[in-house]
Amino acid sequence: MKKRVAVLQGDGIGKEVTDASIAVLEAIGRRFQHEFEWKYGLLGGVAIDKAGKPLPEETIAICEESDAILLGAVGGPAWDNNPSHLRPERGLLQIRKHFELSVNLRPVQAFKSLLAVSPLKEDVAAGVDMMIVRELTGGLYFGEPSHHDNDKAVDTLLYSREEIERVVTHAFELAKIRRNKVTSVDKANVLESSKLWRKIVEEIAEKYPDVEYEHMLVDAAAMKLITYPSSFDVIVTENMFGDILSDEASVITGSLGMLPSASLRVDGFGLYEPIHGSAPDIAGKNIANPIGTILSSAMMLRSSFGMLEEANAIEEAVKNVLDAGYCTSEFKEIGRNILSTTEMTEKIISEIESKT
Ligand code: ATP
Ligand code: MG
Repeated sequence: MKKRVAVLQGDGIGKEVTDASIAVLEAIGRRFQHEFEWKYGLLGGVAIDKAGKPLPEETIAICEESDAILLGAVGGPAWDNNPSHLRPERGLLQIRKHFELSVNLRPVQAFKSLLAVSPLKEDVAAGVDMMIVRELTGGLYFGEPSHHDNDKAVDTLLYSREEIERVVTHAFELAKIRRNKVTSVDKANVLESSKLWRKIVEEIAEKYPDVEYEHMLVDAAAMKLITYPSSFDVIVTENMFGDILSDEASVITGSLGMLPSASLRVDGFGLYEPIHGSAPDIAGKNIANPIGTILSSAMMLRSSFGMLEEANAIEEAVKNVLDAGYCTSEFKEIGRNILSTTEMTEKIISEIESKT
């Protein structure tokens, strides 16, 4: 059956990297006999310029008619001084809220040929392959009351059983198709919400006897991420802890351009985007690394479309191209063969096609 994908290219390098992803997905379609339909919508700065707001109704309609959303990146200096309702990033927050994307997935993987750019020692970064599962629509960032005056301020860390159950269940399901290990991160020695979190993790763990799990305090987890990162498989945590830990973990690979992400609704609908921003400094030069977005589209195949073999084929192709010594220009100090955005995309496509 034809899969409809809403493509929101956004700003800066967003167009270049989503074009790359679409070309790769087309190649997957040819190899595995799938048909994709692309529906383009405006989001971010480009939407502000053309439609007067960061998330136009028409874009919401396009996404609602689609099976998944592929996003480039939003933002840039042109809109930095806009009032808050006319900021590009606002469109992204609105879309997450509108589609109830409550589970955020951020895989972090260290590629063998690129270990030299990691800020960690090569033997520490080697073998890193983790999935951070972050609750995205609850917790401290959304709890009420939330206000401040000159002398006092309040934020509320509120979680319902249902919110915790859905993200923790997702983490255990993922562990089953990975290495069967879940690390649940909390601050249960201090926070009441973490005590409920821990209790629910234990209840859910009972349904997954083959998955090993542990609890870890967030401060300990922050240390272990840089001392022994390869010990993690799936990490599951609440919104703010996940925000901080996923950024910490992302530097292990040494380049923002490599990393994908997914934000999912309970029914499997999702938004897929690289973790990097719009990179205005390199936009339009055909040098951006498209791999973060290409790997995001692999996540789309796996999580929203159930196409596991197809997702593996993309990830395998990326790995083979990197292992063969190819990379994009941000690796020029260590790279042997520097490719442009379109050349890297072509290499990955030939790798996919060579297996047919
Ligand atoms: P945000 O948009 O979240 O505020 P930011 O502006 O801090 O993020 P980016 O736009 O991601 O960050 O850019 C940070 C740096 O990383 C820039 O120098 C940019 O050129 C580089 N960079 C980001 N993405 C890529 C990519 N895909 N390929 C190569 N370099 C990239
Ligand atoms: Mg930016």
